[in-house]
Amino acid sequence: MTRIGWIGLGNMGAPMARNAAAAGFDLTAYDLSPDARSSADVPTVDSPVEALRDADIVVTMLPKGEHVRAALVDSGALNSAQPGALVIDCSTIAVDDATALAEAVTAQGRRYVDAPVSGGTAGAEAGTLTFMVGGEAAEFETAQPLLEAMGSRSFHVGAAGAGQAIKMINNMMLATNLQGLAEAAVLADRLGVDHSTLIDVASVSSGDSWVLRNYYPIAGPVPSAPSARDFHGGFSVALMAKDLGLALASAEALEVDAAAAREVSRRLQKITDEGDVSLDFSSIVNLLEPGTTSDSARTVG
Ligand code: NAD
Repeated sequence: MTRIGWIGLGNMGAPMARNAAAAGFDLTAYDLSPDARSSADVPTVDSPVEALRDADIVVTMLPKGEHVRAALVDSGALNSAQPGALVIDCSTIAVDDATALAEAVTAQGRRYVDAPVSGGTAGAEAGTLTFMVGGEAAEFETAQPLLEAMGSRSFHVGAAGAGQAIKMINNMMLATNLQGLAEAAVLADRLGVDHSTLIDVASVSSGDSWVLRNYYPIAGPVPSAPSARDFHGGFSVALMAKDLGLALASAEALEVDAAAAREVSRRLQKITDEGDVSLDFSSIVNLLEPGTTSDSARTVG
C-alpha cells in the first residue's frame, strides 16, 4: 500500500487528508498545531520526521514557501522518506520558492511536483478540487491515484513552478471577481433585490461567475459560502493578501498595470491593519457595508 507522509492539517489540509485516508492510503500526518492534529480525524504523530518516515509520497499543505522549506528541508524530515519518494506540494507559494524547493528536493534524491489547488474548503471536503501540477510527466502520473482521491480534475501544466504560476493568476482573477461581486451584491441589497433571484438570473446570464454561485458574500442564498458562517473557516484574508502580493510583484516586474488587483490588495491591507485577517477574504464586503453579517443580510430582500 502506498505510504503517505502528510504535513499541514489546516482548513484545506485536514479535509484533503481525510479524503486520502478514506480512499485507502496509509497516511500519517503532522501539523505544528496540536489542535489541528487532534481535530483532523486522521492518524497523526508529533514530528515531521515521524510523519515522513518511509513515505512513498509526501504531501505538504502549508501557508507559504518558507513553511514548506522549514517542514521538509530544514527539519531534516525529507531524509526519512523513501529514496525516490515523490513530494507533492499542494500549498500556494511563490514560483521562485517552488523552483528552489524542486532543486532542494531533487538534491536529496527525492522527486517534486508543485500541485496547488482550487475549489476552496467546500471542494476540499467534497473531494472535488482542481489540481494544477508542475513537474515531469512521470511524476504527474505517479501522483494521479492520490490526486483522484482528493479532486475531480488535475492538469499537467508544465515544468516545476508552472502550477504555481497558474494558481497565482487564478487567484488574481478570484480576488478581483469577488470585489466586483461584493459591490454588485451590496447594490442589490440597497435596491431591495432578492439575492437568490439575482443569482438565479445572473448565473445563466453574462454576469455569471464562480464567486456568484459559490462565494456570494452576503449570507443566505448560498449555504456553503463563508458568508453563511460569518466568514469563519474559509480562505483567509491573510492567505489571499499573500497570493495577491505574489501576483502584483510579478505584474510589476513584467510591467503589467494591474489596477484592479492593486485596489483589492489595498482593501485587504486595510483589513490586515484594522480587522481580522483570519476571516475569509469575502469579508472584504464589510468595507462596503460595515456590519454586513448573516443577521443584517437576512432582513433584506
Ligand atoms: P491554514 O492556515 O488553515 O492551515 C495551515 C496549517 O499549516 C496550519 O494548521 C498550521 O499550523 C500549519 N503549519 C504552518 N507551518 C507549519 C510547519 N512548519 N510545520 C507543520 N505545520 C505547519 O491554511 P489553509 O487554508 O489550509 O491553506 C493552506 C494552503 O492552501 C495555503 O498556501 C493557501 O494559500 C492554499 N489554499 C487555500 C484555500 C482555502 O480556501 N483555504 C484554497 C486554495 C488554496
